[in-house]
Amino acid sequence: MKPFIRYAGGHLDRAGLLRKDEDWISAKLAHPKTQIVPVWRSKNLVDDLPSAPKSRVVDRADASEILELAHQTTLLGISGDVAYFAADISSLEEEPAHALVNQGNFVDLRQVGPLLGADESSLLAHARGMLFWHKRHQHCGVCGAPTKSHEGGHMRKCTSYECGAPSFPRTDPAVIMLITHQPASGPAQCLLGRQAIWPEGNYSTLAGFVEPGESLEEAVAREVQEEAGIRVKNVTYQASQPWPFPASIMLGFWGEATTTDIQIDEHEIEAAGWFDAPDLRTFGEWGDDDTKFHLPRKDSIARFLIETWLTEISV
Ligand SMILES: [Zn+2]
Repeated sequence: MKPFIRYAGGHLDRAGLLRKDEDWISAKLAHPKTQIVPVWRSKNLVDDLPSAPKSRVVDRADASEILELAHQTTLLGISGDVAYFAADISSLEEEPAHALVNQGNFVDLRQVGPLLGADESSLLAHARGMLFWHKRHQHCGVCGAPTKSHEGGHMRKCTSYECGAPSFPRTDPAVIMLITHQPASGPAQCLLGRQAIWPEGNYSTLAGFVEPGESLEEAVAREVQEEAGIRVKNVTYQASQPWPFPASIMLGFWGEATTTDIQIDEHEIEAAGWFDAPDLRTFGEWGDDDTKFHLPRKDSIARFLIETWLTEISV
């Protein structure tokens, strides 16, 4: 299968202009065709675990109690005249939350993400990401007063009359990069590392958060230098991925190493190494016990960067 980016590529129209109209939001929230996407403590509702998971949404007609008990609802978008709203029922304990949705299980999206299609994975990622933002922005960052949701959940506003500061959903940029090197002889190599907390043998591309006052390319160069002691050039953008685990967007790059002597920062990673295509083809899946090394998870942009590189160099 051609590599693709999971958690992106959904078909919903986010209705950026319509959602500013509170009457339109109220009408959609009451409309029988509307679909509700319940989220419980950052877990998404899924049917038919574990072999063939499917995202489960609840018809508005069956969701009155969910909407009564939800402490936050947020418009995710529209498909034709059908609106989709995320509903956060995290204030309930686990059993009542399950009883409320009638069937299905609340699971961490990353457990099932690799098995879901683009529409489903992006819908659930969007719901999870938006509700996490609401959870973490209950108070004004300027004056500390409570905030209130507006615009179908796409803006929060400070309730203090004197302050009234607005805040908008945010996503934290992180760079993730496949750094490569062409030795004088032999196949091209790429730089992968592993964190001590990962299962044994799991390796992935390096990554890190973008800091204020630096470009994305500078963030790539800094992170690779800090984590592995490698200098890079020709940093080029490849692809991006929404990553609501809990609140990032991953910005994927390729870069070329100008040095090859690895010196890891042990606070960041436990090990790093150069691997060529024949090496990578011996890697098993994340969590496998029967191979020495394992690729990053199938739902990650790290895996996408590696697979697209393998495709490119084998042409
Ligand atoms: Zn305020």
